[in-house]
Amino acid sequence: MLFRQLFDPESSTYTYLLADETTRDAVLIDPVRECVARDVQLLEELGLRLVYALETHVHADHVTGAGALRHRLGCRLVISAASGVLTADVRVGEGDVIRFGRHALEVRETPGHTDGCVTYVCHEEGMAFTGDALLVRGCGRTDFQQGDARKLYQSVRGKILSLPETTRLYPGHDYKGHSVTTVAEERRFNPRLGVAMDLEPFVALMGRLKLASPKRIDEAVPANLASGITDPEATTPAAPAADWAPLELTASGVPVVSSAWLATHRTAVRVVDVREHVEFCGPLGHIEGAQLVPLAALPAAAGSWDRRAPVVTVCAYGTRSGKAAVMLRDQGFARVASLHGGMRRWAAEGRPAVEILGDRGSQEADLWQGAGI
Ligand code: FE
Repeated sequence: MLFRQLFDPESSTYTYLLADETTRDAVLIDPVRECVARDVQLLEELGLRLVYALETHVHADHVTGAGALRHRLGCRLVISAASGVLTADVRVGEGDVIRFGRHALEVRETPGHTDGCVTYVCHEEGMAFTGDALLVRGCGRTDFQQGDARKLYQSVRGKILSLPETTRLYPGHDYKGHSVTTVAEERRFNPRLGVAMDLEPFVALMGRLKLASPKRIDEAVPANLASGITDPEATTPAAPAADWAPLELTASGVPVVSSAWLATHRTAVRVVDVREHVEFCGPLGHIEGAQLVPLAALPAAAGSWDRRAPVVTVCAYGTRSGKAAVMLRDQGFARVASLHGGMRRWAAEGRPAVEILGDRGSQEADLWQGAGI
């Protein structure tokens, strides 16, 4: 397995790059926003494809680079389901497995520093990435973000220091020049969580620590609850060159096309309106030639469509159509995008729409629905 330990001197954060040397599939654990350019360049230089950006928890001392990496590379974001982060693509829990190429990381829930802390264990390589649950000769603080010393003690002793003694442990931070440790070392020498320390003295010790708040906590926590995305409406050019349309990616990784592009290419693509019947025939109208397939009916309807033919999904604002585009992409549609801003933006830009009201509208909508164009 290809492995790199990367460091951000500003926040003393470690980011880890792991990759399958054959398939070139890679993951990054705990990327830092200010270091995204470094990480992207390294991935390019090593010829790696970033599959996942993994978080060990919601950080309070730096902003994650995960959202920016998804923007640029289209990777999927992974974080604990207990983290409260809704902008991730995969929300994991105890026992889940993240696979990249022939390698796998087991998720172990290790709360205590925060509720949503996880440790990623690579059994075949004898490595574990502990985030801030366990640091070299130390541990993460427990005095904010749902911190709980009792939980942390149980997590570290039960889920991390119970791994085989030779397991190498890689922390989320280090402030004293360490880079890695082992289970055997920490069991023996960790002054807080080693085998010599009992639960109650540990809880008392953590209660006595009077630490200053992290400098960037007010900025970092809200930003990290949104995967480091500060402008959810922003789009960036899609990483893979699109051969059929000038695609962009939204902050949540949805491929989109502009209404200006769709207006001139309407007849060259399958336009699928995923709103409900009543909206399709309502005052916003619909794009001429659009096929009405409400979102719930889409998976079944798309089963018979040509997966190579381009598809543009449409709804009122772009939320449902975004879900639809991702759904179709997951079903194997190679050329699919959502109309950015939906019918609201289409109308605001003064583009023509078919408006059908009353019974005639219903009949005509049914016709569109059945047309299968
Ligand atoms: Fe932390």
